[in-house]
Amino acid sequence: MTENHKFEVGQRVNIDKQEDVLVVSLRCPLCAALGNTEAVPTPATRVWVPALSERWIPKWERGKYISLEDAILKEPALAALVKEHNGRNQAERVCSNHGKMLRAAKIWTEQLSWVMRKQANAAERKKTEAFSSIGAILAGKQDLAAAESQGEDNDAGAPQARAEQEAIQRRTLAASRKPVEPEDKPKGKGKGRKTKVQAEGSTKGRAQGQLRREIDEALERDAS
Ligand SMILES: [Zn+2]
Repeated sequence: MTENHKFEVGQRVNIDKQEDVLVVSLRCPLCAALGNTEAVPTPATRVWVPALSERWIPKWERGKYISLEDAILKEPALAALVKEHNGRNQAERVCSNHGKMLRAAKIWTEQLSWVMRKQANAAERKKTEAFSSIGAILAGKQDLAAAESQGEDNDAGAPQARAEQEAIQRRTLAASRKPVEPEDKPKGKGKGRKTKVQAEGSTKGRAQGQLRREIDEALERDAS
């Protein structure tokens, strides 16, 4: 508890084996219900976010864990963990102890630092895809670009679900790209440009795949 007082909101710290962790103001509603109503500057590695709806739970965890919405059906008092922000319901952030308690109750709950990392990752992926789409259009591959953007329109707005969906989409796209490549040689001067865009895309894909695996492994470690 007293350890938290050395942090300042907005500061970035290396902590819990992670670098550049943002310190946020945390007012855990469960702590508040126990009388600790003060907001505490807390590194994002020690802030936990329950999954509001099932789409925020990784598919492979849905048999084991439930969403906050489903938990509220069983225990209406848990509705206190949902607040409206800008017209949208959001799960409240909780402290480490209460995050662990929620996970023990089999309500899917993630570290805020993971959530932020995935959001940043999804934003970066979106940027890369837009970049590749421009390249694809210029290289005369509009059909592929159209398919890519269409897939993105399906997402329901949840960053976690989106990240997962995009990972699948990327794999599918990568798989569908491979056999096309050899017989799809561009004419003349277009070649250099196309190769560069594709090379960049595939490098990014690998880096993100790696990050994705790290996150999944971290989640798995914590869940066990
Ligand atoms: Zn708490």
